Amino acid sequence: MKPAPFDYTRAASVEAAIALLASAGGEARVLAGGQSLVPMMNLRIAQPRHLVDVNRIPGHDYVRREGDELVIGFLARHEHIRSSPLVLEACPLMAAAYDFVAHGPVRNRGTLCGNLCHADPASEMPAVMLATHAEMEVQGPAGSRRVPAGEFFVGLFETALRSDELLVSVRIPVAPKRQGWGFHEVSTRKGDFAFVCVAALLQVESDRVVAASISAAGIGARAVRLLGLEQSLAGQPPNEATFRQAAEDASATVPFHDDALVPGEYRRELLSVLARRALLDAAARALSSDL
Ligand SMILES: Cc1cc2nc3c(=O)[nH]c(=O)nc-3n(C[C@H](O)[C@H](O)[C@H](O)COP(=O)(O)OP(=O)(O)OC[C@H]3O[C@@H](n4cnc5c(N)ncnc54)[C@H](O)[C@@H]3O)c2cc1C
Repeated sequence: MKPAPFDYTRAASVEAAIALLASAGGEARVLAGGQSLVPMMNLRIAQPRHLVDVNRIPGHDYVRREGDELVIGFLARHEHIRSSPLVLEACPLMAAAYDFVAHGPVRNRGTLCGNLCHADPASEMPAVMLATHAEMEVQGPAGSRRVPAGEFFVGLFETALRSDELLVSVRIPVAPKRQGWGFHEVSTRKGDFAFVCVAALLQVESDRVVAASISAAGIGARAVRLLGLEQSLAGQPPNEATFRQAAEDASATVPFHDDALVPGEYRRELLSVLARRALLDAAARALSSDL
């Protein structure tokens, strides 16, 4: 398949990219790693009139720590982030989730920011952003703004980004000491998009859950926080019986979508099992870091 005709411009700076996006009146798309956009163009699911290539803009392929935030620039590629010791230390949940994202050649080109802007409902990283309370730093003609992950993912392949805005970085709060994490997923093959995945962060004190942040992807049009599950765990003992019951109750109330590959009822069962496993891992890590 070949894409529909389009104009191509290579932007030399963030400001130039934004000016190009703004002048195209909603008809332009940013080209980052091209790992989602180019297949969609080849299938003619996406037919942008202009491509604004941001790959040669210098200085945005960083992964760094700024105070108590892990900050990832828009040209940081999946593989760079996945193998970063800083990410392992500051956001071990993300490092773990990266084991489930795509394959080497895709990870070498694809970017985290491109992944988040694409907002695939079965993608792992939106779930990680929600669980970690990350913020998206967005820049447009009117300046910069920060969008919390909970407001960034709006719907199916849809974000809060305007057509003349660039996602310039992702800011993730550094994991506090004694926070445990767990990530579980089921997919057709390792490296494929999730049927369902669950990301869990837990803090435990005096054998009680004192903070929980849990999210899932693959169950509907976008990744979601499992707020009911989080609330039901507050003050509970972090054990198998608690997690089993809470995960079953939560999965009974969440709406699921069916598709040709995965029936909604199977997704419901997966959510219950994966949430329990992610919580057990998170609790074990929280308790062992307590020692
Ligand atoms: C075989 C295969 C398997 C894959 N498996 C997985 C998987 O298991 N899990 C998973 O999560 N992903 C998977 N992916 C997708 C992969 O993660 C992509 O890299 C990612 O979705 C898009 O990142 P990109 O940098 O390639 O963005 P692009 O494809 O260049 O762009 C994607 C979209 O985001 C927009 N965009 C990109 N960057 C910006 C920016 N900075 N600001 C504003 N808009 C921007 C583009 O205009 C476009 O609309 C897979 C892809 C392939 C080809």
